Amino acid sequence: MRLTGAHAAVRRIWTVQVRPVEGRPALACPHCTARPLPSARTARSSALAHLAAHARADALPGHLRTCQCRERGCSWHPRHHGCAGPVLLALTRDTSGRLWRLADTCAACAAATSRTAVVPDMLPGTSRRPLQPFPSARPGCERQRSRNEEVEQRRRVREMLTYLASALPRCTTSAARLLALQCALRCDMRGRVRLRAGLLRGMRIHRRKELWQELAQDGWLDLPDLRTAHLNVRLRDATILDQAPGRHARRRAAHWALRPAPVTLPTAAPPALHLTALALAAHHTAAGGGTTDPDTLDLLCGHSHHQTGELLDRLVAHRTLAAWHHLLETGEIFWQLPP
Ligand SMILES: [Zn+2]
Ligand SMILES: [Zn+2]
Ligand SMILES: [Zn+2]
Repeated sequence: MRLTGAHAAVRRIWTVQVRPVEGRPALACPHCTARPLPSARTARSSALAHLAAHARADALPGHLRTCQCRERGCSWHPRHHGCAGPVLLALTRDTSGRLWRLADTCAACAAATSRTAVVPDMLPGTSRRPLQPFPSARPGCERQRSRNEEVEQRRRVREMLTYLASALPRCTTSAARLLALQCALRCDMRGRVRLRAGLLRGMRIHRRKELWQELAQDGWLDLPDLRTAHLNVRLRDATILDQAPGRHARRRAAHWALRPAPVTLPTAAPPALHLTALALAAHHTAAGGGTTDPDTLDLLCGHSHHQTGELLDRLVAHRTLAAWHHLLETGEIFWQLPP
């Protein structure tokens, strides 16, 4: 896929490029004058923040937003069954990694486009219908409410994993991705998050300095002081700072992600297995299992096709899954929970 600036004049597509200006990396946007970046390391997060600011400034009511991919003849992705699902903000990075595109895209087109992440509910105009409150306490309402909440938590985690797949380098380890997810879901409006030592111990990543270094290296966060019992972390990714769902709801999603029912593992299992189980649980739809696009699974976890297959085999060996296989008709992965 090639991204070009030619679409920049269209209302719901924004592009930005990181390129050297006078020997220093700068953000080049068709709408703004080039601005130097503080350092090459912050290029990624600065580009995302810049695009998010344009999307925010050009906010449009949900019912007026259309799939920009379809309006361009769906040339951004291989052929699929057509537009479907809600119109979301999709962030796409080109093969060079220096050109970024944010565009209104339907869920089906976003899923079919490579190197694309759905930006979580964070911008005015992108928030979808909130959970309906249940006014009466009729029997069954409580159960329905907690079921709805779990659906929301799964969606929130799925969106954040998708976003992080684009915002973090591909080589980011599973443990660092799980840590980044907790930080992103728990942070306040200023990107600050306080992580209890108990939480990190529970995740078996207490005092794992190399994970923090991994995330700090790319300018995603500031390296916290690891000598204190509770860690005070500051995220530098401006895109996730003003997420639309309240912090309370996001924290519940973060809590669910620690033990993502119904795909749960013993705590001692390796992070790559935990991340795979989480990605499956986030796509869980039917009672006994689910289907997931294998490319999506690879992207969310940062694994190759081959690694994903091995990890699914190991989930079966752990009896977390009863079985899994490729569906010949759709190319999707079908996985089954133990009875
Ligand atoms: Zn701009
Ligand atoms: Zn399309
Ligand atoms: Zn579409």
